Amino acid sequence: MPGACVFCKIAAGEIPATMVKGGDGMLAFRDLNPQAPTHVLVIPTDHLASLNDAKDPRLLGGLLAFAREVARAEGIAERGYRVVVNTNPDGGQTVFHLHLHLLGGRPMKWPPG
Ligand code: AMP
Ligand code: ZN
Repeated sequence: MPGACVFCKIAAGEIPATMVKGGDGMLAFRDLNPQAPTHVLVIPTDHLASLNDAKDPRLLGGLLAFAREVARAEGIAERGYRVVVNTNPDGGQTVFHLHLHLLGGRPMKWPPG
């Protein structure tokens, strides 16, 4: 039920989050448990459980462009950053509302765990 989803509640303003950017059916806010100096989550405001459920390539492109704009605004675009979409259990997804992690402000390691 979308009403029970934590990111739907953030999008509806029902639970607090540190907002970074909004508009065009998308929202960026800071991760509660940051894994890097910049750790922002980018979501579509409408509920989609995972990347597997996102059928509209324009939405997916929009989310990626939105994450890139946030990276610029956060001042990490030139040094670099990472965008991650954990999908389903093997992908490490724990919140089942599609989101992009934008991580930066330190060098990233490869491969991820
Ligand atoms: P994932 O493991 O890819 O599903 O990522 C879920 C992310 O959501 C984790 O990095 C959590 O720290 C983050 N998170 C969970 N609840 C909240 C919340 N209320 N506000 C901000 N970030 C959250
Ligand atoms: Zn949701």
